[in-house]
Amino acid sequence: MASKKLFLLAGDGIGPEAMAEVKKLISAMNREMDAGFETEEGLVGGCAYDAHGKAISEADMARALAADAVLFGAVGGPKWDTVAYDVRPEAGLLRLRKDLELFANLRPAICYPALAGSSSLKREVVEGLDILIVRELTGGVYFGEPKEIVDLGNGQKRAIDTQVYDTFEIERIGAVAFELARTRSNKVCSMEKNNVMKSGVLWKEVVAATHRARYADVELSHMLADAGGMQLVRWPKQFDVIVTDNLFGDMLSDVAAMLTGSLGMLPSASLGSPDPLTGKRKALYEPVHGSAPDITGQGVANPIAMIASFAMCLRYSFAMAPEADRLEAAIAAVLDDGLRTSDIAPPGAARVGTAAMGDAIIGKFLG
Ligand code: NAD
Repeated sequence: MASKKLFLLAGDGIGPEAMAEVKKLISAMNREMDAGFETEEGLVGGCAYDAHGKAISEADMARALAADAVLFGAVGGPKWDTVAYDVRPEAGLLRLRKDLELFANLRPAICYPALAGSSSLKREVVEGLDILIVRELTGGVYFGEPKEIVDLGNGQKRAIDTQVYDTFEIERIGAVAFELARTRSNKVCSMEKNNVMKSGVLWKEVVAATHRARYADVELSHMLADAGGMQLVRWPKQFDVIVTDNLFGDMLSDVAAMLTGSLGMLPSASLGSPDPLTGKRKALYEPVHGSAPDITGQGVANPIAMIASFAMCLRYSFAMAPEADRLEAAIAAVLDDGLRTSDIAPPGAARVGTAAMGDAIIGKFLG
């Protein structure tokens, strides 16, 4: 089997604790399944600042660019709260996203049956939920210029952010959503605000044109983003893939995340354009949670978000969908057996630590 180069950036806080479980899984896959993963490890975030004075070194950036996929833990913590803005821990993640040109952020919201009771919504609304939010990550109002606060000289100031999208940016994120839908239930809902925003008018027009030209087999619907937020909490199972811009995606993916319970359960992937020669996309996989300084070093962090991020890596970077399915089924089975880390345990229930949860999932996965 061709080798598969993984670059591991565990980062700070609980990042290394969660990554340790994925490292055990990778070793087991190499040993038992001849999976052929090659791993290298680097530093990102506060630990990179301590070692190199910046949030990621040039050597580690080069390794990230050369890898087939990057697995990222978490960065940050109180120790680095006062370091200079351009070398703060998050700068490492932003640099990776920028240099790898990761324009598509994928956030699945899956509700495991065993956890449906702990959602803030009714069980029948969330049980069996499996939706995917595809958020544009490198454009829109977070990056558009001008972006400034102007002193108007009359005691007033004016804050300006610019929402801007070019055709190619909408086309390529639309294409990612349609391609992913084909591997799922074949439905895309595109969300924008064409009633009040020109960028929404163009977004809708370009998504529709991309659909007509290349993806007419996929079912496409359009929804205003505010109505989309409402529908997400009313009846989320109506959706399969949702595609939206950077700002709306930021909010809608957090809303969708909370349908499913704890931060410790949520994986994500960020993808770039396909390489013209190999067809492979640059990719980074990371849990949604941060470095959780309040529980660091206690061995209690939930490793499921990190392990589920690795399942996404198997699916999207290595075309190993059957293995990804099995890994996700192993997570569901362990939850069905009643294993709970403290973040997902009901009051008074027994709890397992990070390593025990990781071992149980690996055990189920290997069968
Ligand atoms: P956080 O996600 O680290 O923690 C929020 C709460 O959720 C905490 O109570 C924590 O204990 C809990 N939690 C998070 N992940 C968990 C897990 N896997 N298992 C069990 N419990 C878990 O967010 P925060 O507290 O706002 O931020 C802490 C630090 O992390 C800050 O320095 C912040 O900047 C950074 N951060 C980094 C990322 C990233 O690396 N992508 C994302 C968010 C926050």
